[in-house]
Amino acid sequence: MEHDSDVIIIGAGHNSLTAALYLQNAGLKVLLVDLAEVPGGAAKSGEILEPGFKHDLFATNIGLFLGSKVYTDFKDELHKNGFDIVAGDLAFSSVFPNGQCIRIYTDAEKARKEFERYSDNDASSWVELVSYFQKVAPYLFPFLQMPMPSFAMAKQLWKMYRGLGNVEALDLIRLLIMSPRAFLDEWFESSEAKALLSPWAFHLGLSPDCAGGATFSFLESVVDHVNGLALSKNGVDNLINAMVKAVTDRGGQVLLKQQVTKIEVRNGQAVGVKTGDGSTYHAKRGIVACVTPKQFITLVDEKELPQSFVVKSKKYRFGPGTLMVHLTLDRPLEWDSAQDLTDSTYVHIAPYMQDIAATYNQIVQGYLPSSPMLVVAQQSRLDPSRAPNGKHVLWVQARAFPSRPTGDALGQIKVGNWDEMKEPVCERIISKLAQFAPNIREILRKKVVYSPEDLENENPNIVGGDMVGGVQNLNQNFMFRPFAGWSKYRTPVKRLYLTGHSTWPGGGLNATSGHLAAMQFLKGK
Ligand SMILES: Cc1cc2nc3c(=O)[nH]c(=O)nc-3n(C[C@H](O)[C@H](O)[C@H](O)COP(=O)(O)OP(=O)(O)OC[C@H]3O[C@@H](n4cnc5c(N)ncnc54)[C@H](O)[C@@H]3O)c2cc1C
Repeated sequence: MEHDSDVIIIGAGHNSLTAALYLQNAGLKVLLVDLAEVPGGAAKSGEILEPGFKHDLFATNIGLFLGSKVYTDFKDELHKNGFDIVAGDLAFSSVFPNGQCIRIYTDAEKARKEFERYSDNDASSWVELVSYFQKVAPYLFPFLQMPMPSFAMAKQLWKMYRGLGNVEALDLIRLLIMSPRAFLDEWFESSEAKALLSPWAFHLGLSPDCAGGATFSFLESVVDHVNGLALSKNGVDNLINAMVKAVTDRGGQVLLKQQVTKIEVRNGQAVGVKTGDGSTYHAKRGIVACVTPKQFITLVDEKELPQSFVVKSKKYRFGPGTLMVHLTLDRPLEWDSAQDLTDSTYVHIAPYMQDIAATYNQIVQGYLPSSPMLVVAQQSRLDPSRAPNGKHVLWVQARAFPSRPTGDALGQIKVGNWDEMKEPVCERIISKLAQFAPNIREILRKKVVYSPEDLENENPNIVGGDMVGGVQNLNQNFMFRPFAGWSKYRTPVKRLYLTGHSTWPGGGLNATSGHLAAMQFLKGK
C-alpha cells in the first residue's frame, strides 16, 4: 500500500474520521493511522462473549452525533453506507427501593404524569423546563459547534442577548454555571425528580456539587425526551463503518495496528510520523493528532514546544474512571418497579442524587465506591438485531472509580491490581442491579468486565478509564480546554493540530472537535 498523503490523522475514532471528511472535501488526501485492530476508538462493537451477541463495547448513545454538523452535512451518504438510527418511546428512567421508579417517555403527557406521581409542582416544573428548553435551545446549541473563544462566539452571545433580552440571557448563563444540585433544587422538590436528571452530569464525571454540571443534566434530559435516546442500529460500529466508507470512497486510507510513536518536526513544522514498527510516513500539508495533552508531549520533541505548553499539558487533569460490564442474557431483565422498564433504553441506578454525591466523595479520596452509579443500557430490546431471537445483550456502565484505588469504602475488597479487583467489584455491581431487577442472576449467560485500566490499555485516550478525556469542570471546559491559549486546535508546532475529547467541546460522540480542527487546519492558522 502506498502512503502519499497531504494530511496524516493520528487515530481513527469518530473525531478523526470527521476531520478526514472535511479535509477531503477541501481536496486533501488523508491517511489515518490507528494502533487498534479496528477503527472507532471508544465507539466499537463486537461479539466478545458469544457468537450472535453484539455489544457496543464503550459508547452507545449517539444522540450527540445526531446533533453534529458532520451528521447534517453527510447524512444521506452515511445512511446510504448502512448507518441507521433506532430510538424508543421510553428513553431513560431511574429506579428506587420499594418498587418505585420514574420514567422519561417521548410522549409529553406520559412524561408529565411520571413527575405528577411524586409531586404536582414537579409535573408543572417539568413542563415549564421543556418549554424553556424550546425557547433557549436555538441560542444555546450553536455555541456547542463553535471554536472558543471566537468572533462567532461573540456574535452568538450578542444574538442571545438580542433574542432573549438582558435578564433572560443572564439567567441562562447562570443556569449553565450552576451545579446539578443547585439547578435541581431550584426546579424540583421530589427526590425522585432530582434523581432522574442528576445522573447525566455524572456521565461527564461531574458530581451533583460540581459547578457547570447543570448544563448536561438539563440538555440531555430534555433532548432525550424530545428525540428519544438514540442508538445506531446493529451496533455503533455501523456508524463508524459508514464513516470509514465515506473516507475510503474519497481515496482516504485507514492504516490499522500501527501506533504513532513520534511526530517528526522540521524547521518548526510537522512533516510526518514514525510508527512502532519503525516506518515513517510523510505528510505534505500537516498532521491532525487525536491524542490527549499527556500523550502529545511524548510524541513531539520537548525542544519544539514552549515550556509553558509542556507545563500546562502536564497539569491537565483527568477525571474519574469508568468500569464496564457486558453481559449476555437468556431473557430480558424483569424490573421490580414497572414491567415496561425493560424497554427503557437506559436505566440509572444511583438510586438518589445523594448516592451520586457520596460515590463522588469516595472516589476522589481514592476509594472503591460502596455503591457506584449504574447506567444499564438494554440495547437489544430496542434493536433485536444485536442478539439471537429472544436473547439479549446488556451494557452496564459503573460510574465512577478511582483509576488507582487506595482502599475500599466498605472495607471488603482487598485493594491490589485491577485484574484482582475487577471480579469482586463486578459482584458488587451485579448485587446492586439484583436489588432492582432480581432475575439477573437466573438469566445471566456470560459476562466480561473492563476495568479503568483495561479501558486505557485498549485506547490511550481513555486515561485511567476517564471516558471523557479529562475533567469537564468549568476550569477545563470552553476556552480552557485543554488549556487557555490553546483551545482552538492549534499547537505550538506549525501544521500540527490537536483534536479529540481533550479539546472543546469535550467528551462524547459529538464530532465537533474533529470538524473544528479541520476548519482551523484549512484556515492554516
Ligand atoms: C466506556 C465508555 C462509554 C462511553 N459512552 C458514551 C456514550 O454512550 N455516548 C457518547 O456520546 N459518548 C460516550 N463515551 C465518550 C466517547 O466515546 C468519547 O468521548 C469519544 O469516543 C471520543 O472520540 P475521539 O474520536 O475523540 O477519540 P477516540 O474514540 O478515543 O479515538 C481515538 C483513537 O486514537 C487512537 N490513538 C491514540 N493514540 C494513538 C497513537 N499514538 N497512534 C495511533 N493511534 C492512536 C486510539 O487507538 C483510538 O482509536 C464513552 C466512552 C467510554 C470509554
